[in-house]
Amino acid sequence: MNAEILSVGTELLLGEIVDTNAAFVARELAARGVTLQRKATVGDNLERLAHMLREALSRADLVILGGGLGPTDDDLTRESIALVVGETPREDPELLSWLEGLYQSRGRHMPQINRKQAWLIPSATALPNPLGTAPGWLVRLPEGHEFAGKQVAALPGPPREMQRMFREELLPRLDLPAWAFYAVTLHTAGIGESNVAELLGELTRVANPSVATYARRSGTDVRVAASAASPAEAEALAQPVLARVRSLLERFVWAEERPGDAPASLAGSVAKLLSGRRLGIVETGSGGTLALQFAGEDALKGAAISDDHATLLTLGLTPVTLGDQGLCSEAAALELARGARDQFGAEVGLSVSACTSGEQQGQVAVALVSGGAEHSALVNWPGDAGQVRERAASAALNLAFR
Ligand code: ATP
Ligand code: MG
Repeated sequence: MNAEILSVGTELLLGEIVDTNAAFVARELAARGVTLQRKATVGDNLERLAHMLREALSRADLVILGGGLGPTDDDLTRESIALVVGETPREDPELLSWLEGLYQSRGRHMPQINRKQAWLIPSATALPNPLGTAPGWLVRLPEGHEFAGKQVAALPGPPREMQRMFREELLPRLDLPAWAFYAVTLHTAGIGESNVAELLGELTRVANPSVATYARRSGTDVRVAASAASPAEAEALAQPVLARVRSLLERFVWAEERPGDAPASLAGSVAKLLSGRRLGIVETGSGGTLALQFAGEDALKGAAISDDHATLLTLGLTPVTLGDQGLCSEAAALELARGARDQFGAEVGLSVSACTSGEQQGQVAVALVSGGAEHSALVNWPGDAGQVRERAASAALNLAFR
């Protein structure tokens, strides 16, 4: 089944409100195996709305309209559907008495303009709206129509009303394909997206199972997904490819995530890796960005955050290193990582030296010391101070997976 979404409203078109409804519907459709072909936005104008609806129907089996079901003159969704279907709306007695009852129960008089919310056309079924005054419509285009058999659904604009009606009223009335989806996301660190893509080669060019890469702040995500008629079949289809991706990326993967899992975090995975060992942190230039990642984890024994050279000298930095190599150097980061471990009596020391201004601007050094092992890295990316700090924290965490 192919679908298109048509969002209705001049305020959406002009960007005064953000179209969260279309994002919701898109996610829901994808999760049910409906292929979404297009999303479009149109203002409150009958001609353009009808034109775009006709266009969408020429391509898709199902067109979902959102908004424009209110009572005022600029709410034109019903009129446009009637125009395209070629039927005349009439007041539906049942809907009208439901609507009047709604006003009565609140002790209010129903304005005459609301009567159009009780409209139906012969090819439309009303979708009850338990949260508002605008029932939706589900229309199947009649025999003999150019688009006979295709469907149009109209849902109200307010997100709470729309979401509830979409799930409880619309979905059960649609003839959805037997379909199940299986997906696993592998979170990697220490390797860029294009390098991941290169390693995966041909795998990323197949549709089902599909392998897709996403560049994230924490590193590159790789999603392996498959769809089939049942969950077991979808999983079986994905497994061989998943195994192949795992073996190609093994040393970079820090977590695997399935739908429904709590979102994996890089710091959470580091905490797991520490398995009881405690962490000391020294940060300079990153304002606590690294330590903050460990909020909610038990791993942190202590953290020191300082941009003051005299203070950093008490934390393990030596004047020689500071003078010769500068603060954002691997040598300085290593001294601070040792200091982090020793000052806090921790088993593992982690440090960030980020230069967000001055001569070494954009340069970040990170280091990790644990037992006899010492790792450090120097990184330098373009970006503003906020980006430098965030990437610095990720780079420090990445050292744990060396
Ligand atoms: P109403 O009966 O409230 O007039 P309606 O079906 O005519 O409902 P709209 O007038 O288009 O819907 O929108 C009503 C409100 O719902 C908007 O002011 C906005 O706050 C919200 N809304 C509408 N469309 C969207 C959307 N696509 N995404 C997010 N919010 C939306
Ligand atoms: Mg409205």
